[in-house]
Parts: sequence; structure tokens; C-alpha cells
Amino acid sequence: MPEAPNLPDACDVAVVGGGPAGLAAATELKRHGVPRVVVLDREPAAGGIPRHCGHYPFGMREFHKVLRGPDYAGRLVARAEQAGAEIQTGVTVTDIQPGGILSLITPEGTGELQARRILLCTGVRETSRAARLIGGQRPQGVLPTGALQSLVYLEKMKPFARPVILGSELVSFSALMTCRHAGIAPQAMIEPNERVTARSFAQGLPKLLGVPVHLGCEIERIIGREQVEAVQLRDRKGRRWELACDGVLMTGRFTPEATLARMGHLELDLGTGGPRVDQDGRSSDPNVFVAGNLLRPVETAGWSWKEGLRVAQSLARDLEAPRAREVTLELQIQGDAIRYLVPQRVTLPLEEAALESIQLRVARPARGSLLIRSAGRILWGRRLSALPERRILLPLDVLKNAAPDHPVEVVFEEEEGL
Ligand SMILES: Cc1cc2nc3c(=O)[nH]c(=O)nc-3n(C[C@H](O)[C@H](O)[C@H](O)COP(=O)(O)OP(=O)(O)OC[C@H]3O[C@@H](n4cnc5c(N)ncnc54)[C@H](O)[C@@H]3O)c2cc1C
Repeated sequence: MPEAPNLPDACDVAVVGGGPAGLAAATELKRHGVPRVVVLDREPAAGGIPRHCGHYPFGMREFHKVLRGPDYAGRLVARAEQAGAEIQTGVTVTDIQPGGILSLITPEGTGELQARRILLCTGVRETSRAARLIGGQRPQGVLPTGALQSLVYLEKMKPFARPVILGSELVSFSALMTCRHAGIAPQAMIEPNERVTARSFAQGLPKLLGVPVHLGCEIERIIGREQVEAVQLRDRKGRRWELACDGVLMTGRFTPEATLARMGHLELDLGTGGPRVDQDGRSSDPNVFVAGNLLRPVETAGWSWKEGLRVAQSLARDLEAPRAREVTLELQIQGDAIRYLVPQRVTLPLEEAALESIQLRVARPARGSLLIRSAGRILWGRRLSALPERRILLPLDVLKNAAPDHPVEVVFEEEEGL
């Protein structure tokens, strides 16, 4: 393949992914005087997921306004360009190697970019039908929310008229709103757990829109030759029935878009599915940083934006003068109630951490005491009731009192009877 024209071959920071995290980071790096900052995105325009989300609410934290996704994305792009970042779209990064080397591919050809630092901001994706092990035929009309939103808001298409929505995370309600916008009438929301996953404010929406919610129920099989005709459902008691529909929206169950990290040389975290990082967003390669939803599934755009900004500040300091960090503490999850932690590692001293707290999610509804321990000593503790997919934040600064040569243990001591 020929070399792609107009691609830069060297820069100070290559930001992979032009969503809220990558654009915030690029803007902030320029504000800190970093000379050449290049943002690479495989899509024809930068903006990330919000570019596809024609609904509110985006932008409160960043612009103190409630914006639609595409307007929000446009403002982030404009800010980054005004700050002096170079945005290259239609460019897929296919590999990263030690020493800051990126392999690129565009419709015109291939290229290589040498960067002093790489910042990965490649976001998340929804779990596919195949990964959810749903049986049956393979008809048209099975989509994740992201694809539905691209079709509806960008292509002005209506892929089905009467789908079912699998999942009840916040994004499932975003799918519901997208359907409403397009004049699509969902037949039901289906949730394998016994309760709705999203926070309470979204829960009244299906009732308001006349969409039944089936809890404790799985889609076992998709039926249909050309287009979806029905789904076969199964509840916890083993009862099976068919529900007529012409599409299936596979919403949520996000996983970090960590293909580059996985194929490359970065250590991955089993809990998050993203690269392992310290409190500055630094991966196992000291020249590669990480921000936004690639750190974990899944946070809001505003949260990812803030992480981009803060990790960029650490990265800019690192470019000026890499700090000697002498002590590394590994954070270890004890027991199976905790699904993941971010960061997974802390390097001392702790000043000016980009990730200001330890982010935690539970694997299932749990009640009890959440503890941070070091060498048998409790550094911090709190009683709480926790639900999956809810943000839980633990203080990071207590780790300055941790024993230097022991791992830090994070444990959820559960009470019976939840
Ligand atoms: C359907 C849906 C609805 C949502 N609704 C809301 C909402 O109403 N409000 C809210 O606050 N949040 C919402 N969110 C969450 C929000 O969109 C995300 O939290 C936010 O976009 C995360 O930003 P990011 O920069 O980490 O990643 P993303 O926005 O996902 O951006 C990642 C970018 O990386 C690029 N990329 C990936 N791999 C490569 C590669 N190898 N080479 C080049 N480029 C690459 C992608 O093209 C993409 O542009 C929604 C999410 C979804 C999926």
C-alpha cells in the first residue's frame, strides 16, 4: 500500500481518539505549551460517541449548558482547533510500539508517526450479539445503540419499527429516546437482572412511553429469516414465550475499545478490560497514557472530558520533567463483590494526581463495609449499599499512609440478607 500523503511523521503527543477525552486532552496540552499535538480519529469527523447522539443532555460540566450530542461534539472540536491541536480524521491507528511509534492507515495509504508520548482515548463499545451468546437465526435488524443512533441521527434512516430493547442501563434509555425521536415503537425492555440497572430518574420513562419492562428475563433466541420476526424469552423459572418484534437493540454491557493495547505491549486489567494505569493515567509503558472510557466501562461524556483534561496536565508535566517516582503500590481486589478499580497502581509521591479518586464498581448488589487495607492495617472504611453500574469513589490520598512494600487491598466485607 502507498504511503498516505498529508500525514505528519513526528509530533510531541499523538492523541488516539477524538472523543470528549481526547479533544479535552489535546486542548489542555496546547494550553500548556506543548508544541505539536496531533489527534487521530478513524471516523470522518472528530467528536466521538456524542457526534452520533442527537439527544440531550451533554455539556453541563464543560460549557455550563445543556446541549445535544452533535452540538457538544462540534464545540469540543472547535476548542481543540482554536487551541492549535491538529485533528486528523479518517485515520485508523493499527498498532503502537514501544518508543512512541504508531502505525496508521487511511483510505489513501499507510503511514508511521513518531511521538514523544501517546495518549490513548479510544472509548468503549457495546457487547455484540455473538459475545452475549444469543442463539437463533441471523436476520437483519439486530443493532447496538451506537449503530442505531448513527442510522437515525446521521443517516436519517429507520432500521425497524417495533424492536425490543435488551438491557436497562442508562444507554438503554438513550436508545428508548432515540426510538421515540425516530417514530419507532419499542415493544418491550428486557433485563436479565431482577431490577432496572439505571439510576432511578430514568426508571419512570418506559411507563410514561407505554413500554413494558420484563425483569429477570433473557433473550434466548432470535427468530426470523430476512428481518427479525420475534424473540424467544426465558424467565428465571424456566418459562419460555415468544414476543413479536422486527428488531433487537443490544444495549450497554460496555467494554473498553482496548484492541490497540491488547495487540500491543500494554498490560491489561482483567476487571476493567482496559490498560492498567497509575493515578496519572500512565500505562505499563511510561510513554503511553490513557484517559476517558478506555479506562473502564462506562462513564458520562463530562466525566471522560474531565479525565482527558487532568491526564493531559500530568502528561504535560511529564514532558517538561519526568518525575522520579520511587515507590509503586499495586491495588488488589479481595473477594468477588468488587468488579473493578481504577487506577490499579499508584506511584508515590501522590501530589497532583490526574485521577483524584479510586473509582470502583461492584459486580452485584452488595451491602457491607468497603475497606482499604495495607499490611493488615485499615487505612479507610465506609459502610454502604451498592448496586452494579453506579459510580463509587474512594479517597486516593489515604494511600500515602500505605506500607511501601505491601500491596494495597480493597475489600467489600458483605453483610448477609440483601
Ligand atoms: C448510545 C450512547 C448514548 C450516550 N448518551 C450520553 C448522554 O446523553 N450524556 C452523557 O454525558 N454521556 C452519554 N454517553 C456516554 C458518552 O458518550 C461517553 O462517555 C463519551 O463519549 C466517552 O468519551 P471518550 O472520549 O472516552 O470516548 P468516545 O466518545 O467513544 O471516543 C472514542 C474515539 O476514538 C476513536 N477511535 C477508536 N479506536 C481508534 C483507532 N484505532 N484509531 C483511530 N481512532 C479510534 C473513535 O472513532 C471515537 O471517535 C452515551 C454513550 C452511548 C454509547
